[in-house]
Amino acid sequence: MNYRIVNINAGSPTADANVLIIYTGGTIGMITDDSGSLISFNFKNIIEKIPVLKSLNTRITVISFPEPIDSSDVNLNHWVDIGYIIYENYNQYDGFVVLHGTDTMAYSASALSFILEGLSKPVIFTGAQLPIGATRSDARENLITALEIATTRLEGKPVVPEVCIYFNNHLLRGNRAKKAESIHFDAFESENYPPLAEAGVVIDYNLASIIERTDGQKLKFNHKLDSNVAILKLFPGMSRTVVESILNISGLKGVVMETYGSGNATTEKWFLECLEEAISKGIIVLNVSQCTGGRVLQGRYETSRMLPRLGVLSGSDLTTEAAITKMMVLLGTESDPGKVKERLVKPICGEMS
Ligand code: ASP
Repeated sequence: MNYRIVNINAGSPTADANVLIIYTGGTIGMITDDSGSLISFNFKNIIEKIPVLKSLNTRITVISFPEPIDSSDVNLNHWVDIGYIIYENYNQYDGFVVLHGTDTMAYSASALSFILEGLSKPVIFTGAQLPIGATRSDARENLITALEIATTRLEGKPVVPEVCIYFNNHLLRGNRAKKAESIHFDAFESENYPPLAEAGVVIDYNLASIIERTDGQKLKFNHKLDSNVAILKLFPGMSRTVVESILNISGLKGVVMETYGSGNATTEKWFLECLEEAISKGIIVLNVSQCTGGRVLQGRYETSRMLPRLGVLSGSDLTTEAAITKMMVLLGTESDPGKVKERLVKPICGEMS
């Protein structure tokens, strides 16, 4: 990719931190086109609207996607590109801020948490609900605070050595977050894990909930992702044809099955037979709940008791975003399906309890 690189405060002798911003697009930098729709625009637009960036006590480098995107267009190549930029520049910067559209930010932050295995520096995703040019935009606060979080250290170490989403005064673990709101400013929630920080007059870090950085930990760049996966969302009245069509997709290796409540599903014979057949062909089925809070407990009800017997794995309190991206990374990284199954049900970077 032909990235655009911009340096801000490059020569500042007093700057005490170095941060790399990766600009992928999203509402934050958008402008309105002739037909009235919001379209992505270049990063210059952002710097002009936030002149204070130039006077921060931080050396900032910006790497921009050559063609900034609406995050609904994000794909596996973009995730690998973001991971590669961070991996290649890892030693030069104290932290990283990824400017990204909110629509798929929870997927991208989850994916990057698995792609950058053994991360020990902050990678903070942020964006905005209103473009930077709008008078009431939330972009300025989100970006300035994300930069501060990305460079904050305690006893010489980064306070937040993990992939996070900062939005509307809350810092959330990236692979625990979900987009929950498309109009109000509080776009993200994390029902199953507490915020890692809250920003008010000061930024109040919830140190007990932040991943502990292990000294000497080496960063691994898991750049192979397998897209032979699907999400099967159950609904009452779902037909056999729909279930069979999904489970018979050619080359399919893994399915995230979104069930009801604490992991319950219809007990109809045909449905269980479809699952059994898929699993016997080697397809991995991971059970996550349609609820935003709570967790899968297979066997709590009669309507989930048969699932572990068929070989359905429990995704505990994984979000769908974390489950599908974890599956893509593990299927791409591990050659042994047994190892994929073993790692799917255990936490890798705080994504599940
Ligand atoms: N459609 C936009 C995007 O995800 C929405 C946003 O940025 O908030 O890129």
